Amino acid sequence: MSTDTISLLESSTWHGKIYSGGWVAAHGGDMPIEEPATGEEMGRAGLADVEDVRRAAGLAAAAQREWAATNFEERAAVLRRAGDLITANGPEIMRLVMRETGAVEGLAGFAVSVAAQECYEASALASRPLGDILPSNQPRLSLLRRVPVGVVGVISPFNVPLILSTRSIAPALALGNAVVVKPDPRTPLAGGFIQARVFQEAGLPQDLLHVLPGGAEVGSAMVADPRIRLISFTGSTRAGRAVAELAGRHLKRVHLELGGNSAMVVLDDADLDRAVSAGAWGSFLHQGQICMTAGRHIVHEKIADAYVSALAEHANHLPVGDPTMGQVALGPLIDAGQRDKVHALVTSSVDAGARLAAGGTYEKLFYRPTVLDQVSPTMPAYAEEVFGPVAPVIRFSSVEEAVRLAADSTYGLSLSILTRDVMKGLALAEQVPTGIVHINDQTVNDEAVAPFGGVLDSGTGARFGGQANLDAFTEQRWITVRGEIPAYPF
Ligand code: NAD
Repeated sequence: MSTDTISLLESSTWHGKIYSGGWVAAHGGDMPIEEPATGEEMGRAGLADVEDVRRAAGLAAAAQREWAATNFEERAAVLRRAGDLITANGPEIMRLVMRETGAVEGLAGFAVSVAAQECYEASALASRPLGDILPSNQPRLSLLRRVPVGVVGVISPFNVPLILSTRSIAPALALGNAVVVKPDPRTPLAGGFIQARVFQEAGLPQDLLHVLPGGAEVGSAMVADPRIRLISFTGSTRAGRAVAELAGRHLKRVHLELGGNSAMVVLDDADLDRAVSAGAWGSFLHQGQICMTAGRHIVHEKIADAYVSALAEHANHLPVGDPTMGQVALGPLIDAGQRDKVHALVTSSVDAGARLAAGGTYEKLFYRPTVLDQVSPTMPAYAEEVFGPVAPVIRFSSVEEAVRLAADSTYGLSLSILTRDVMKGLALAEQVPTGIVHINDQTVNDEAVAPFGGVLDSGTGARFGGQANLDAFTEQRWITVRGEIPAYPF
C-alpha cells in the first residue's frame, strides 16, 4: 500500500459516494460545511439520523469479530500506514483543518503531527501482551486475557477534532474493535471524514469505521444502541453528564473527557517576560477554544500590575484574522453562538467591576484577545469556562491564598505553576486536584504517549497513552484451564 498523498477531495461532498469503507451518514440529508473565517461553504457533508446509527452499529458489529481475529501484525500495519498517510498528506489536512475549524497554521500542524503519532502509538498496542498468568488456589492455569470491547462509539467536539477523534479511533481499531464516530456537525471533516479516508487508503477492511455527523439525538442513539459497548466522549461537562446518565441506564462503559477552567499560578519569583508570553499562549491559542486553556491567571500581587500591563500590551499586538490568508496568531471563533457566549461572559464581568485591560471587541467571528483585570472569583468570565480568548487576572498575597484560589473550581483538568522555585511549585500542585500539572509551562500541552484527562467535573480520569489505552479499549476476561474435571461433593 502506498503512502503517497491521497486526494482528500477538498470542496467536495462527503458521503457514501466517496467513502466505501463503512456506513456514512445518509438519512439526515446533507448540510454545508461552513468556513468560520469567511462564512463560505467549503463542501457538504452527509448528516446522520437515528436510522444511520442502527445501520452502522449492525455493520460494525458484524465486521468486528473477523477484525479482532486478524493477525496483530496486519492490524499494526494498517495503523502504521494511517500514520504515514496523515504525515504524507499533512499539508492538505492542515489546510482543511484551518478552513473548517479556524485553527492557525501552527495549531493545524500540531494537530496533524499528534494525530499521526496517535496512529503510530496505537500500532504498538496491537502487539502488547494481552494479559497475565494469575496465581490460583486450585490446580489449574488461571489467566487474565484482554479482549476487544466490540464496537466503540466515539463522540467528539468542534475545537480540535483531528486529535480528539483520532486519539480514540486509532487505539480502538488497533486493539480489534470497530468504531462508529460522531463528529460535531460543524466539523465533520477533521472529526471523522479525514480519518475515514485515511484508514480506507491504509487498508482497513470494510465496515470497521463509520462516520455519522449529527447532533445530540444521534449521540444519544449511539449511547442507547446495545451493539455499541463503550462510549468515548469528549465535549462539555453538560453534554457529558447527559451521556453518562443515559449510559448508566444502558449499563454501558463511558469515558468522559470534559470541560475545564484551568488555573495558571504566577509566583512573584517567576521570569516576568516568559510568564506573560506563556500566559498569552495558554489563553489565546486557538482563540481559547481548548479544554486546557488557561481560564484563570492567579498572579502574586507584587508583580500583578506589571504582569497585566505586559499581557495587555502583548494581546493588543497579536494579529487576528483568516488563518489561510497569512500569519495570524488568532483565527475566528467557531460560530456566532460561541462568539455571543464569550462576549456575554466578558461584558457581564465588566459590569460586575472587572477592568477591561485589552480586547473585549470583535468583528464578525474574530474576537480580540482580551485581558480582564481586578477580577473576583464570582465574576462569570473567571468562574465559568469561557472557551474564548479571554485572560482574567486575579491577585493573591500568600501561597496559601494561591492554593485556595486555584483549587476553588468544579473543574480539574490542567494546572500551571510558574516559579523559579520548582520544589515550591510541586508542593503547591500537590494541593490542587487536577489530572495534569505543568511546572514552568502554561496549561496547554498534549503528547500521544502521556496520560490525558481530568478529575472532578473535567471527566472520569486520565486515559490515552499506552497502558491507559489498553485498559480503555479492552475488557478483561478471566480464563481457567484444568487437565481434568474436578470431583465435587454433590
Ligand atoms: P458539546 O458537549 O456541546 O459537544 C461535544 C459533542 O457531543 C458534539 O459532537 C455534540 O454533538 C455531542 N453532544 C452534545 N450533546 C449530546 C448528548 N446529549 N448526547 C450525545 N452527544 C451529545 O461540546 P463543544 O461545545 O462542541 O466543545 C467544547 C467543550 O468540549 C468544552 O467544554 C471543552 O472544554 C470540551 N473539551 C474537552 C476536551 C478534553 O479532552 N477534556 C477536549 C476538547 C474539548
